[in-house]
Amino acid sequence: MPRNVIRHVDQNGPLARRVRPGEALLSVNGKLIRDVLDYKYYSYDRDLLLELRTPEGKIRLVRVRKPEGLDLGLDFETYLMDRPRACANRCVFCFIDQNPPGMRKSIYFKDDDARLSFLMGCYITLTNLTEREIMRIIDLHVSPVNISVHATDPALRTAMLGNPRAGEALDIMRRFAAAGITMNCQIVCCPGLNDGAALARTMEDLKALYPAVRSVSVVPVGLTRYRDGLPQLTPFSEGSARGVVEQVTQFGNKCMEELGTRLVFCSDELYQKAGLPLPPDGFYEEHVQLENGVGMLRLLEAEFESALCTADAPDGVPFSIATGAAAAPMIEKLLFSAREKYGKLNGRVYTIRNDFFGSGVTVAGLVTGGDLISQLRGRDLGARLLISADMLRREEVDFLDSVPLGDAAEALGVPIYPVACDGGALCDAMFGILPEIPQPAADAEETEYNKYN
Ligand code: SF4
Repeated sequence: MPRNVIRHVDQNGPLARRVRPGEALLSVNGKLIRDVLDYKYYSYDRDLLLELRTPEGKIRLVRVRKPEGLDLGLDFETYLMDRPRACANRCVFCFIDQNPPGMRKSIYFKDDDARLSFLMGCYITLTNLTEREIMRIIDLHVSPVNISVHATDPALRTAMLGNPRAGEALDIMRRFAAAGITMNCQIVCCPGLNDGAALARTMEDLKALYPAVRSVSVVPVGLTRYRDGLPQLTPFSEGSARGVVEQVTQFGNKCMEELGTRLVFCSDELYQKAGLPLPPDGFYEEHVQLENGVGMLRLLEAEFESALCTADAPDGVPFSIATGAAAAPMIEKLLFSAREKYGKLNGRVYTIRNDFFGSGVTVAGLVTGGDLISQLRGRDLGARLLISADMLRREEVDFLDSVPLGDAAEALGVPIYPVACDGGALCDAMFGILPEIPQPAADAEETEYNKYN
């Protein structure tokens, strides 16, 4: 089935009753539509002429006038209207290489696709872009682009990414900057590899591209217990994590004086590894790097406290919350704070140890259904269990290890509510205003995209 075939037409959109599912979108205003990027870009204007091919093979034209920027409301056979681009790297720290065997196939797919960066915030490495694709990003002004930089020293980046083209990244970024494209950057920091002087150079090089480079996050390398045959990497100790946090903080102070922004931020996890308190919420400016766990816990706290000010009395039904080791202390703190206000709040927090990947992995988003079941079976979970919605994949009905949400609920004998990573939603759920429990969809798209390359 060609990927430009329309699967669904929004009946509240500008093409309601004018375009049918099963028709293929060929061009918009004479521009060929090859993928979702073309579709989004060329359908932005107010006056459009669509060229469609019916299932019977007839070509027909549809003229449409709509507000500028309004989406046409079409869904296609696949999200990208194309295959996602696979990465061409062999990064020494690749998390996907550290997955255990036997997981579903899509977990092992290594995407590295500029379109996913723009549309879904995925991080890309720039190592698989052809000159034509670079020009297309510039011409279509695809912005922002999220880039996994790791190091700007060409030799070091080439070694870390295991790709001879990796050293070209800074030149490509300079071209993007000259074209006015905004970039958010990520540095996966590996002790002894790209910290210290290498990190100092990377931060300086990225600072030189400000304001095109809008933000930079520094996240600690994630190491699972499945590293047999992979390059040897050193995990962060408290001392080495502290060194990186201090280095980034000093650099951020300098940026604040010179640019009016800190520019570079450490993830919450790095502060935790360093045994240092998280900075206050205001430190994180516009929270641009939340997806990388930068300032996420402080924002959760601020949202929760704000929601608590206006919350009605809780329903008094006993509940439990399960989360990873990284977020557990903050969730405990929020529960305590809510109890200070409403004594009858009857909840408890369970910290789930990550046996699946290894105890060094502490984020809630990598807690599996198997660990949840084995560690909570027989425990007092109250009348409902709240988890982070980040634990779920594939249309939000399965855990990472393919355990369906419904099976986990059945095994634990309690309804499980996935709560959005938002302090207001967490406050609501604690007080009895519950999110819907997602149900499996018959036509869920199988592809999962890995956001943090
Ligand atoms: S870390 Fe990302 S870019 Fe590197 S090998 Fe893995 S999937 Fe590819």
